Amino acid sequence: MILHIDMDAFFASIEQAINPRLKNKPLIVGSRANRLHTVVCAASYEAKRLGIKSGMPTQEAFRICPHLEFVPAEQGKYIWTSEQILELLKRWELRLNYASIDEFQMDIENHPDPLKLACDIQERIKGTFAITASIGIAPNCILAKLASKINKPCGITVLTPDNLMSYLQKIPLNKLCGLNGITGELFVTKGMRSCLDLYQKPSYFLKNLMGKNGLTLYQALHATESFANLPKESKPKSIGHSYTLPRASKTPQFIMAWIRLLAEMVARRLRENNLESKTTHLWLSGPLGSKNSQGQMTWQNATNDGQEIYLRCLRIKLKSKNQLPMIRALGVSCSNLNQPQYDSPLFLEAKRREGLLEAIDKINYKFGDDTIYPAIITLASHKHEP
Ligand SMILES: [Mg+2]
Repeated sequence: MILHIDMDAFFASIEQAINPRLKNKPLIVGSRANRLHTVVCAASYEAKRLGIKSGMPTQEAFRICPHLEFVPAEQGKYIWTSEQILELLKRWELRLNYASIDEFQMDIENHPDPLKLACDIQERIKGTFAITASIGIAPNCILAKLASKINKPCGITVLTPDNLMSYLQKIPLNKLCGLNGITGELFVTKGMRSCLDLYQKPSYFLKNLMGKNGLTLYQALHATESFANLPKESKPKSIGHSYTLPRASKTPQFIMAWIRLLAEMVARRLRENNLESKTTHLWLSGPLGSKNSQGQMTWQNATNDGQEIYLRCLRIKLKSKNQLPMIRALGVSCSNLNQPQYDSPLFLEAKRREGLLEAIDKINYKFGDDTIYPAIITLASHKHEP
């Protein structure tokens, strides 16, 4: 059994928790500071109720609600909160998976009272961070994630053999994953509308329809999972983070902001583990069933600098032959890990940068939410987009 924790309107909720003036107001977090020339990175529930969605140009959001509160994204704050939530979750001493910046999974195999556990987790998160989480409990990761979205915000949903079918019937297929691609249309032509329609299809049907992806999807939907079989790594071979967007996006600025954020998270974990990496890996996936794009490159110099990892990701993206029109999920990881060489950097710029990162880490460690973060969320500009 898996317990999936999904933070509610994560970035926007953090901003509202920090600044009481923003509480209960329609609020958007912009991916860049220029309020009229950026995209909505996150929207508060008050804004969502008006029809404002992440990935939407801010101009459109302001047309819907001219009095909308606007805050530029401050990724350091969100990463810090995410890591603190992970620390808090470790106290239950269950196997944990850091699924994304605002999603965490717990292996609750043989847990005597999952519902009580879910309530305790919600309470502790709310008490500590003044933000809420929704929780889903189900036999595997994909269903637990789906369950966490059923009663948002601040809900708990347990999928049992008794209620699974009736829940799945109520959920339109596009809620499961981005189905606005070719596969989505294909599903519709095959008469599949609800998650139940998909769940009840035999494996050969999905395989014929979607090839290897279909088989993987079938296995994921019907798995009974625990993390118990996962090898416990003492020294990581790679460090990565990934994120599934609320819906598929084609806005380069929005996608680059996410790559920047993931790069920063990876860099921070590298530094925590006293590691540097020479190989950067970027993967982008389109809506379910459509193509994925991934690439990796190895550099001579190892790095654990978020900005450098981000720039390396852009290089990989530019070089990729497979440019996706829509992105649904993305991930950044670093491998080829080594301990940093302590020879004094030859170049003055490298030395300055190293000192800067060290100072930022110290300040962030000490002051937490007063954290320092890159002022430029993204170097995204059209010249980077092929
Ligand atoms: Mg969330």
